[in-house]
Amino acid sequence: MELDKSCPKCSSVMQRGFILDHTAHSSNVVAQWQPGEPQRSFWVGVQTKNSPQYEIKAYRCKACGYLESYAL
Ligand SMILES: [Zn+2]
Repeated sequence: MELDKSCPKCSSVMQRGFILDHTAHSSNVVAQWQPGEPQRSFWVGVQTKNSPQYEIKAYRCKACGYLESYAL
């Protein structure tokens, strides 16, 4: 992954970061991507079994706020 990127909208500098997810247990975790439609569950919110998951890395433009995300 590139360390420095230019914003595709305004060509300003983009800063690398990640999408923060707050779970029901008040823990801070990195949001993850997985394929398919979300399968709702009363017990766990959304089921995740048998699906590969990837942490979401994101770049944010310091000028216009545009986000560009990657799941690697
Ligand atoms: Zn921008």
